[in-house]
Amino acid sequence: MPCARCAADEVTATGWCAECERQHDVWSRQHAADIIWQAFSGAIVAMIVGLGAPLLGLSPLLGIGGVLVGVGTFLGVRRLGTRRRRRQFQAGILPRAYLRH
Ligand SMILES: [Zn+2]
Repeated sequence: MPCARCAADEVTATGWCAECERQHDVWSRQHAADIIWQAFSGAIVAMIVGLGAPLLGLSPLLGIGGVLVGVGTFLGVRRLGTRRRRRQFQAGILPRAYLRH
């Protein structure tokens, strides 16, 4: 299967060739701040479950579950965000000059 982005013959496990991966790596650094709101979403969920459970009369032990749910949320949001950025990059909606930074 050729590279999904530039149709080069040699592809890596991601479906893109090494050159596209390298360019994406450079490009994605522009969006390094993504991880901040992604981690924040996880923390909010953990807090709501952890603090909300005792308020509702549920066992405080659920707070531990809240942390797990929060971590799960963070990882899920992170994966979705990464996929979205890859699609955005592949669609090439940004000017090529952007890649040279
Ligand atoms: Zn490629």
